[in-house]
Amino acid sequence: MKEDYYDKLRSDMVKHQIAARGIKDTRVLEAMLRVPRHLFVPENLADRAYDDSPLPIGDGQTISQPYMVAWMTELLEIDEHDRVLEIGTGSGYQAAILCELAGEVLSIEKFPDLARTAEKRIGALGYDNIGIRVGDGTLGWPEEAPFEGIIVTAGAPSVPQPLLEQLADGGRFVIPVGPSGMQMLNVITRYGNDFQTRDEGTCVFVPLVGKFGWKRGRVF
Ligand code: SAH
Repeated sequence: MKEDYYDKLRSDMVKHQIAARGIKDTRVLEAMLRVPRHLFVPENLADRAYDDSPLPIGDGQTISQPYMVAWMTELLEIDEHDRVLEIGTGSGYQAAILCELAGEVLSIEKFPDLARTAEKRIGALGYDNIGIRVGDGTLGWPEEAPFEGIIVTAGAPSVPQPLLEQLADGGRFVIPVGPSGMQMLNVITRYGNDFQTRDEGTCVFVPLVGKFGWKRGRVF
């Protein structure tokens, strides 16, 4: 059966791409084993869903490489009671992984058709702890703040101020920051009004376009 085939591809992905590269958090590994990634890519790419790479999802956007999803999720250190804000819903795959781990997930996507498709997929899988909204995620979701976790899955020129303000005390904020060709993965932790930033390594994301991001889609 085709589902058995995908199950095998998925457990190989977790073993060879994710655990083998140092992701240790068992909750993250289990979530990556559970979420059917092949349902989050265009149908003609389903057989490549478990490849070690990002894939196109339409509107010039991509679903992130599996390892990148696992790495950023581990850095968020999500508790089952946490409320998490994601900027850049895209395919909805990262959001589904967050649904497995958090109490509630709020996700914002710029392109209405991507948001709609993601919402359909996530609903079909039965997750009921998520809200998706179309808009400029660089403004955050102030009515729902504060968030114990914030994750931006697009490359930002600098850290958007509204998102810092919406981070809960003790919360973690994971965001790629830097020029369009390559960014640094920043992890910001809030202690009262003190924000501590660490660089975790380099990464490459599509641009975060918005009021507190890049001003237009093509910055290359
Ligand atoms: N997390 C996604 C990967 C998304 S790629 C996944 O798991 O598939 C980055 C996404 O960020 C794209 O869908 C892009 O449209 C979106 N994006 C870019 N700028 C944005 C903004 N200001 N607000 C909301 N979404 C944005």
